[in-house]
Amino acid sequence: TYAIEISDLKKRYDGGFEALKGIDLKVKKGDFFALLGPNGAGKSTTIGILCSLVNKTAGKVSIFGTDVDHDFAKAKKYLGVVPQEFNFNVFETVFNVVVTQAGFYGIPKAIAAQRAEKYLKQLDLWEKKDVQSRMLSGGMKRRLMIARALIHEPEVLILDEPTAGVDIELRRSMWAFIKNLNEQGTTIILTTHYLEEAEQLCRNIAIINAGEIVENTSIKALLKTL
Ligand code: ADP
Ligand code: ADP
Repeated sequence: TYAIEISDLKKRYDGGFEALKGIDLKVKKGDFFALLGPNGAGKSTTIGILCSLVNKTAGKVSIFGTDVDHDFAKAKKYLGVVPQEFNFNVFETVFNVVVTQAGFYGIPKAIAAQRAEKYLKQLDLWEKKDVQSRMLSGGMKRRLMIARALIHEPEVLILDEPTAGVDIELRRSMWAFIKNLNEQGTTIILTTHYLEEAEQLCRNIAIINAGEIVENTSIKALLKTL
């Protein structure tokens, strides 16, 4: 079975704009998958539909064989999502932002605290654990979102433009972190508009433009055609 299976997915926003014109995507378990495309191509819309933040107009989405329309509660447990916008409570401390998330998954407090420590340390945020999250820099906020997304140790981590606006040094350390997660078995899906980012990290790639998938191949095969 696939980690993610999307078929003939369409999205028409209120007002009539067709952001997705019937896309098909399959992501294998353990894959490192890039959805590459320019601004406005439909990347965030796709991610939004995957995690049920955006209602689809038509099509089918399955996560490890579970149709999100039939059992979203089950499907959701497989997913950790790092959206583009910072959407945590800025008055909570860094530690609490991560631990509060665990409550939504029914994770016992002691385990949540252990995992929060593990991920905040790995993401170089542990010294900031008692600081209100509004005090963090942009790059730190991005890493906090990653730590929070991992609290239930999801099978699939989805990152929407994780390194947009992040300087090159931090970008490299975030890449290393994400690469390591993938090597330990987590399926990774990231959206990006940098081919270089996809090239550095990913195994398979789909290129989206104006709501359509125009290429779906391995990075190796893609680079041969360029
Ligand atoms: P990307 O993530 O690739 O930049 P998006 O999925 O955010 O692209 O957007 C795809 C298209 O849909 C864009 O033209 C955008 O303006 C439009 N769009 C996104 N969200 C909405 C919305 N809530 N209502 C109407 N149009 C939207
Ligand atoms: P959905 O159908 O998924 O609920 P909506 O079409 O209702 O999404 O749009 C969600 C919100 O985003 C609306 O309040 C809408 O006004 C706003 N929005 C409209 N156009 C855009 C756009 N181009 N990019 C981002 N957000 C938009």
